[in-house]
Parts: sequence; structure tokens; C-alpha cells
Amino acid sequence: MKLSEMREILSAHDIQLTKSLGQNFLHDTHQLQRIADAAELTTLDKVLEIGPGLGPLTELLISRAGEVLAIEMDRRLVAVLRKRFPQLNLVHDDALDFIRREPRDWSDWKLVANLPYSVASPILVELAQCERRPKLMTVTLQLEVAQRLMSRADDDDYGVLTLLVQLDYEPRGWFKIPADCFFPSPNVDSACVTLARREKPLLPDEHRAAFVKIVKRAFSQRRKMMMKLLKAEWPAEKLANVFAELNISPQERAEKLSLEQFVELTRMLCRDAKSIS
Ligand code: SAM
Repeated sequence: MKLSEMREILSAHDIQLTKSLGQNFLHDTHQLQRIADAAELTTLDKVLEIGPGLGPLTELLISRAGEVLAIEMDRRLVAVLRKRFPQLNLVHDDALDFIRREPRDWSDWKLVANLPYSVASPILVELAQCERRPKLMTVTLQLEVAQRLMSRADDDDYGVLTLLVQLDYEPRGWFKIPADCFFPSPNVDSACVTLARREKPLLPDEHRAAFVKIVKRAFSQRRKMMMKLLKAEWPAEKLANVFAELNISPQERAEKLSLEQFVELTRMLCRDAKSIS
């Protein structure tokens, strides 16, 4: 979809773009192809697209995948999309509400989307944490958020988002998308990241809530020793024993601990919780 075509549709429908909905449309054919390529689509795939906008990516998804479900919040764009793609399964809704309200089996689905930046992180966390999470997520978002998704312990961007998503997904690859590929150009850099669901979950379902609690608490004050922070939730003695068993210094800060260490910490704290009760 060319920029001239986008402008024509917008002016024909008298649509002024809404900044708060992150309406920066991708008009660069090469970048759109790269996104679709990264998702390795086949006609057997079911694809969820969040925020189709005027449909530049939707067009490609429909041509490559077996089934596409798109969720768009802006009524004016929904009207345009219904005309452009009469066969598209299109939902007019807030995608975050939709996912929360209607827990469903996404395990056979791929999320392929140029996400609205303001809700990109909550959408990813929501989908990553649901019981039957998508098998792949190829998403375009703010470069800074992409870096958080791909980072490792001790990186500047490492934190809650990294761990909540990487618990179930491995970052597979990424590429930067220059701002002038969008209309209007955003004033932040963008990147497309592909996250592949882990074949074997690192934690059983019953330990996930504890993992989330530990991670959020440990990063609640980045510069503080995490053991001190965890004392708000777990008895000091139990923490001291588990830290010693895992060879983690009681002075350690959360940003130094790897995903694997957080997983082990969760297992141990859950194990001890069981043996006490
Ligand atoms: N996919 C299109 C493209 O690549 O040009 C548009 C991407 S634009 C970055 C984000 C789109 O998400 C916009 O169409 C916007 O209206 C829509 N949107 C914003 N918030 C949303 C939400 N909570 N649920 C669903 N769609 C949303």
C-alpha cells in the first residue's frame, strides 16, 4: 500500500489521525514484506492482527495465511477495512479488553501486528501469560520496548517486561524500521521483533503467579537488594536458605539475576511453601 493511496483513503473518508491511538501507518512495501517474512506464514496459519489501521499489513496477511482475525478500535478505520476486505474477520473493539474478556485458545495462532505503541507492552504480557498462548509473535513496536523484550541480565533494558515475556518466549530476531517508513513519522525509533513460544515451558502453570509476584517485587526498586524487597512477601529465613542454596548473594540486585535464576528461585520458594503448608 503506497503512501499516496493512504492519503487518498484518509481524505476520501475525512479521517484525521488520532495520536493517542498510535496511528502511525506503515507504507513501506519492503518493510511490510519483511514483517510477513519474519512470521514465516503459510496457508495453514491462523493470524491475529491487532490494529490493522488502513490494512497495509492485513493485505499481506490475507494473501499468505489461512485465516486472519483483526481487531481495530477506531470505528472510522473499521468502516474502511470492511469495504476494502469484505471477507476479513474483523472485530471492532479495544484489543486489550477483547483478549481479557474472551480467554480463548490462541495456541495455534500467530500474532502479527504493527502494535499501537501505548498498549503494546500490556497486550504482549496479556497474550504471553494466557494459558493457551500464541505460538509466535511478530510485532512492530517502539525500539526501546523491542530492546527490553530481547535483553539479558545486567543489560540496561532488562526488567519486568523482559522476564514476563521471556518466561514463555525466545526472541528469534529483529530489525529496525526507520521512522520515515510510517505516516506520519513517529518521533521514536521502531523495530520488528519475533518471539517464538518455548517448546517446553520453564515453569508449570501453578508456579506462574509466584514468578510474576517475585519478578514484580524484585524490580519494584531497581537499586535495592532484592532479598530485602522479597521480605515483604516471604519469611526472611526461607529467603536466606533459598538464596544460599542457589548461590545468590543476599546483596544481589534483581537486574543481575538471569531468567533461569528467577525460575529456580520461584521453584524453590514454591517448593518450600508446599512443604511448610
Ligand atoms: N497496522 C497498521 C499499519 O501497519 O499501518 C496500523 C498500525 S498503527 C501503529 C496502530 C493501529 O492500532 C491503529 O489503527 C489504531 O487505531 C489501532 N489501535 C489503537 N489502540 C488499539 C486498541 N486498544 N485495540 C485495537 N486497535 C487499536
